Amino acid sequence: MRTHEYYAMDGDTIKRTRQFCPKCGSGVYLAEHADRMTCGRCGYTKYKK
Ligand SMILES: [Zn+2]
Repeated sequence: MRTHEYYAMDGDTIKRTRQFCPKCGSGVYLAEHADRMTCGRCGYTKYKK
């Protein structure tokens, strides 16, 4: 069973708090950078405070 492995990956995602693109909606994640997050699909950029 790979349930444990999947759960660990899911937990890591929650800790990193990856966000969906507000323009593309759920299913499209924002790529995380040092000072900003960008959407590879529409180019949306969100700067971190
Ligand atoms: Zn987008």
